[in-house]
Amino acid sequence: MLNDPRSHGLWEKTAPAPPATRRLEETISADVVIVGGGYTGLSAALHLAEAGTNVVLLEAAEIGFGGAGRNVGLINAGMWVMPDDFPKELGPVHGERLLDLLGNGPALVRELIGKHAIACELEKNGTLHCAVGPEGLKELEERARQWQARGAPVTLLDAAETERRVGSGAYAGSLLDMRAGTLQPLAYARGLAHAAVKAGARLHTGSAVIGTIDIDGRKVVRTAAGEVTADWIIVATDAYSTGPWEQVRREQVYLPYFNLATTPLGDNLRRSILPGREGCWDTRDILSSFRMDQAGRLVFGSVGALRGTGTAIHKSWARRSLKRLFPQLGNVEFEAEWYGQIGMTDNALPRFHKFGRNVLGFSGYNGRGIAPGTTFGKLLARHILGEVSEADLPLPLTEVQEAGFRAMKEAYYEAGAQIAHFTGERF
Ligand SMILES: Cc1cc2nc3c(=O)[nH]c(=O)nc-3n(C[C@H](O)[C@H](O)[C@H](O)COP(=O)(O)OP(=O)(O)OC[C@H]3O[C@@H](n4cnc5c(N)ncnc54)[C@H](O)[C@@H]3O)c2cc1C
Repeated sequence: MLNDPRSHGLWEKTAPAPPATRRLEETISADVVIVGGGYTGLSAALHLAEAGTNVVLLEAAEIGFGGAGRNVGLINAGMWVMPDDFPKELGPVHGERLLDLLGNGPALVRELIGKHAIACELEKNGTLHCAVGPEGLKELEERARQWQARGAPVTLLDAAETERRVGSGAYAGSLLDMRAGTLQPLAYARGLAHAAVKAGARLHTGSAVIGTIDIDGRKVVRTAAGEVTADWIIVATDAYSTGPWEQVRREQVYLPYFNLATTPLGDNLRRSILPGREGCWDTRDILSSFRMDQAGRLVFGSVGALRGTGTAIHKSWARRSLKRLFPQLGNVEFEAEWYGQIGMTDNALPRFHKFGRNVLGFSGYNGRGIAPGTTFGKLLARHILGEVSEADLPLPLTEVQEAGFRAMKEAYYEAGAQIAHFTGERF
């Protein structure tokens, strides 16, 4: 995207085209202006437009330019945080409400994909959180216990069943979550965009918001070449925020994450590696993830940025890792490589912010934004439509707070991943 083959990699190669959009070059009026063309903004636009609201979405670059077009495509049903820690962190009301909402998030994603016939390689066979060693297994046992106590359809699988499903004997077990699955993330974002346009939303790309003021009680949102006057502003810019809400990005610490996609595997390999196409990640601190795309490419990822010395280090580590995990693969060729920045908040939970009267947004999904972004976008729409009060939202209102030692932590994550991958899998 924007002539950078390492920004959206495989997803850009294989996603259907987005709807035709153009830069905003005039002065227009709407009920709601949405800033950001990722899952949060697109879901809000779709649900508002379906309810008959006059809605305009402004995207700085292209639909799915941020995390939405770069991610792994795991449709998760929770966060990294253990279920029991939600009420501890947010209080019992918000904690359980958020857990419930996140647990139902993948179902909403599937519902929208079905309703709007979005071609995005949806796989419904669940995800496997794979245990590395006895410590990893212990963590998953506890996670399983906490989810099962809430009635969630998660199952702890032993090493043999994990090996049968993954095609690798590297794991001590895994947690199967049947609420979850995988999709082609950019295709999903573009599909939401098509659905929003069809419902009547006006989408403008190449239209970064650079300022906003209040005039006569209405919001005026400015881009370089045009402006929108509206009653409400939804800020859906998350980790890729620029312009007036850049503070949202500064609240988060960037964790770089890269993906490499092999060429399509032959039939025998496809029968042995993830024959059920579950999406996987492991319990390591510097985690790895892997999944299949529809054409049988294995998409393998981990922490790190594919730039400078990182490119060679991470790719060479990935080759060694794949050899250990899946010896049957032999020497692999990578057809695409890309990376992005995951925005992490200090308690690894999302945020609800109000930036002024009728200016609001959710952000900070900590690498878990497909289902939550879709869900929160819908929730923002319902809030504006008067169907959900602020008191009934799943998160308390918080002030934006700049992350402490942000630059230092980001440099540490990027360099730390390089060191770990330079030395890792050699012995
Ligand atoms: C490498 C990577 C892997 C990930 N893996 C997963 C995964 O497997 N599963 C999962 O659920 N989540 C994953 N995530 C997280 C997920 O992608 C994000 O949480 C999600 O994209 C957030 O959606 P969003 O709509 O809120 O923001 P984004 O998708 O980031 O969209 C924000 C948009 O706002 C635009 N914008 C910013 N500033 C302005 C402005 N001033 N004016 C106009 N537009 C503006 C940006 O250009 C961008 O397109 C991953 C993220 C990354 C980076």
